[in-house]
Parts: sequence; structure tokens; C-alpha cells
Amino acid sequence: MLSYRHSFHAGNPADVLKHLVLAEVLKYQTIKDKPLDYVDTHSGAGFFELAGSDAQKTQEYLDGIAKLWQHNSEHNALNEYIELIKSFNSNGNLDFYPGSPKIAEHFLRRQDNGWFFELHPRDLELLQDNMKGKRSIRVRGENGFQGLIGLLPPASRRACVLIDPPYEIKNDYDTVVNTLVKAHKRFATGTYMIWYPVVDRERIDRMEAGLIASGMRNIQLFELATEADTDVHGMTASGMIVINPPWKLKQTMDAVLPELVSLLSDSSGFYRSEQLVEE
Ligand code: SAM
Repeated sequence: MLSYRHSFHAGNPADVLKHLVLAEVLKYQTIKDKPLDYVDTHSGAGFFELAGSDAQKTQEYLDGIAKLWQHNSEHNALNEYIELIKSFNSNGNLDFYPGSPKIAEHFLRRQDNGWFFELHPRDLELLQDNMKGKRSIRVRGENGFQGLIGLLPPASRRACVLIDPPYEIKNDYDTVVNTLVKAHKRFATGTYMIWYPVVDRERIDRMEAGLIASGMRNIQLFELATEADTDVHGMTASGMIVINPPWKLKQTMDAVLPELVSLLSDSSGFYRSEQLVEE
């Protein structure tokens, strides 16, 4: 039984980091004319109303996108992400926040394919509605971990994958690593992005160790902590691990992460930008 609904969390600091990295990766992956396959293994509903009762119950977006909304950065990547969110809010108020499917749809071109997996029945319905109308977009009510393996290698021979599970099931940490190893065996040149929450630092240390030991090359990690690690309460940080990143991603994140810490974190916040495994 799935209970996680992303509508309670849309636009929070974790979404800001995740979607900034996603937008940067897709921007570079769509420079070449050649077709690309994008796979979103855990899509959620795709689009969120911030005035809706779920977002208003937690108001997490107030600690995330609402703090950036009117910010002018000296870094293009952050400005472009903010402009992208603004494009979903044409009346000038922060009423809506796009999920990863809508962000991906913004970048995907006629020649690309988008594959979107979602298991929650209500979010699947919303996702189907939010993504309807394009022939190159397929929404599937199936397990995204298995669905991904079935799509590899893609006919286009170019793929970009987002793995963003809710980690409701503790096994998800191991499933992520095992799925990546399988996916990489089938298609080693794909770009794989994995989101993770820091609730219990040891779990993330183990996940990192598993990826480092896997033999996969060229792995980077970007983390934004809005407060210091603690064993007392919920999520204090989140990160994105990227396998086969575009060549400028680390340089961009090195520049943007300190700015995000100053905008979104308390005085104990920090960031990580690391090459976990060399090319
Ligand atoms: N990627 C989305 C975004 O950035 O807007 C948010 C996704 S949310 C963190 C995780 C989603 O995965 C939930 O909607 C949940 O119902 C769904 N889910 C959980 N287990 C799944 C599985 N095995 N396969 C596909 N979807 C799953």
C-alpha cells in the first residue's frame, strides 16, 4: 500500500535541488539533434497546485521555491531554473509547481521519447491527465525499477534516467543500487540521476559505498543540507547522484550550491559537490 503523495512536498528544498540538476542535465542532453529517451521511474502526479490542501497542509514550498522565486542569481543555471518555474505561473503569482515529468516535457523534442512510471492509482490518473496529448510520451502504471530495465538499451542509444523513489520501503536504498547495476550492465553510457533523502546518514553512506564498489565509473554527488545531520527528526538534506553527467555539471553545481545554501539553509546548513568515482 503506497501512502506517499508528492503533492505534500512539491517545491520544497529537495525539489529545488533535484529539478535544478534535472533541468541542467536535460538542457545539455538535448543540444545534439539525435533522439533521446528520457525515463522517469517514479513520476508522481507531474504538476502541483500550491494553493491546494496538500501543499497548504505542510507549506514545504515556503522553505524552497518561494524563497528563490524573486531571486536574481549571478549564475545562469539558477536563473534558468527560476524562469522555468515562472513559465508555469504566467500571472506572476507562485500558484503552481511542476513535477519532474513536466520539467522533462519542457526539454523533450519531437524526436525524443519520454517514459513515465507511477504506481499510486490517484497520482497515475493525474499524471495521465497532465501528460496527455503527445505521441512521444508514454505513461505506465507499472513498477518503475522493473520498467526501466525493460527499456534498456533504448533504440535511440541515448538515455537519461531519473530514479526518484519515496524511500517509504527501507529496501528502496538497496533496490536503487541493484537496479542501477542492472541498468548499467544493459546500457553503460546512459546518464542516470538518483535522488536521495538524508534522514539517516548511515543509509546514504552505505548507498554511496555500494555505488563506489559497483565498478561503475564517472559518478558525481550533489547534496544540499538545509540543516546539520541529526538523529532526532526527519529529512535535513537531500542529494542527487549522477552517473555519466554532462561535462559541465560539476562546475555549475560548484558555483550554484553555495548560493542555494545561503538562500535555503539555516546557519548549520552545508553542501557537498563531489566526484565519487572518476571517469
Ligand atoms: N519524481 C517526482 C517529481 O520530481 O516531481 C516525484 C516522485 S515521488 C518522490 C515518488 C513517487 O513514486 C510517488 O508518486 C509514488 O507513488 C511512486 N512510486 C513508489 N514506488 C514506485 C514504484 N516501484 N514504481 C513506480 N512508482 C512508484
